Amino acid sequence: MGRPILAIVGRPNVGKSTLFNRIAGKRISIVEDEPGVTRDRIYAEGEWLNNYFNMIDTGGIEPNSEDIILSQMRTQAEIAIETADVILFMVDGKEGLTSTDREVANMLRKSNRKVILVANKVDSHTPPNTIYEFYELGLSEPIMISASHGYGIGDLLDEVISNFPDDKDTGYEEDITRVAVIGKPNAGKSSLINKILGEDRVIVSNIPGTTRDAIDTPFNVGDEKYVFIDTAGMRKRKKITENIERYSVVRALTAIERSDVCLIVIDAEEGVTEQDKKIAGYAHDNGRAAIILVNKWDLIEKEDKTYLKFEKEVREGLPFMTYAPILLVSALTGKRINRILDLIKVVSNNHSMRIKTGVLNDIVGEAILMNQPPSDKGRRLKIFYATQAASKPPKFIIFVNDKELMHFSYARYLENQLRASFGLEGTPILFEFRERG
Ligand code: GDP
Ligand code: GDP
Repeated sequence: MGRPILAIVGRPNVGKSTLFNRIAGKRISIVEDEPGVTRDRIYAEGEWLNNYFNMIDTGGIEPNSEDIILSQMRTQAEIAIETADVILFMVDGKEGLTSTDREVANMLRKSNRKVILVANKVDSHTPPNTIYEFYELGLSEPIMISASHGYGIGDLLDEVISNFPDDKDTGYEEDITRVAVIGKPNAGKSSLINKILGEDRVIVSNIPGTTRDAIDTPFNVGDEKYVFIDTAGMRKRKKITENIERYSVVRALTAIERSDVCLIVIDAEEGVTEQDKKIAGYAHDNGRAAIILVNKWDLIEKEDKTYLKFEKEVREGLPFMTYAPILLVSALTGKRINRILDLIKVVSNNHSMRIKTGVLNDIVGEAILMNQPPSDKGRRLKIFYATQAASKPPKFIIFVNDKELMHFSYARYLENQLRASFGLEGTPILFEFRERG
């Protein structure tokens, strides 16, 4: 299931971070970058009554004009409008309404997003006199809270979750392969989708209307059923500022969470960017099957072995995803587009592969014979037994005498042996080592 997205917008000092931290609790998730690159907190996970959502954190936006507060707020509101399903618009209940509040309220009202008005710093049970000013904004009735004391948060979160879009996944049956097409704005995602769907063998079924502006596209190829999961909104705009682009990965995250297979679209002219690494990293961390599409291949001047050089660069840019096949394609000319659907089928089958215990243990046994398990201080690792515990992605439990003896490189060796035997192209695989006395 894909998590809906919540954003908190409001003037500086109204209490956004206080509320954010209260909702996020210990779940604050720091997006880990490659070593040496600044850490970039973009979102945190929230939960209320078993409803999980992602909250975008616009705290780090740099003001970029003279009129600092207003321009900062504009950017904040734009990001919220582009990425969030529900927007909390926070005002200061102590201070009352300001002209900046009015400006932002206007932007939000025009956006068609669900906006919930929150008056913070209402620290006592009697509503402050200022509260009536907020009705003027033409939004909903203000929900009064005290973020620092924790009053009213439950009622607020009830309201938030009741406004999230219905889970669209319920409409998809088990036998439908859900394919997310993810990547930076302008990488060519919608062009690729159109080109793939334009192929003869593809039969596009009715496009269901949905509560938000995302449109999923179900289609059939022969007896196989698929749906392209949309990354709502992000591609409808012409101009996307850097700030907004940075947050578009949170939208991609929702699409990834709803998918089985991710098509990671990279712009050949730009190569693998930080943004691409993040997006691919989310797909990997979520255990999705993956295919890397290097699009706009028509724009690249080819010399001898250009494709080898490109593949090498992509591998170096995404070193955690060696299992993902790479295709150099062009949505414009149609180059290699006809290979994409076949590849989706292959990686999707691998992703849901189930390996019989007997066969699995034969392979593991052979692997042990060829390359002895490591030992440490006179004690040797013993591998007793392996079994597949789950699929999508395949997860193997391996029973050993002592987990400490399982060296990283030996686990990698076992993974390679399994991949060599079962051809698990396109899917991550997981291991869990368990001790058995
Ligand atoms: P932000 O700039 O909107 O993220 O605001 P912060 O969360 O940093 O809060 C600004 C200031 O308001 C801090 O000093 C907070 O302690 C204070 N504050 C936040 N929530 C409340 C509240 O519910 N009541 C009162 N009295 N102060 C609050
Ligand atoms: P999205 O934001 O990722 O959905 O990107 P679009 O599909 O809207 O494409 C962005 C721009 O790149 C458009 O102007 C497309 O015409 C162009 N484009 C997409 N694919 C290709 C391609 O394979 N080659 C070239 N030359 N341009 C492309």
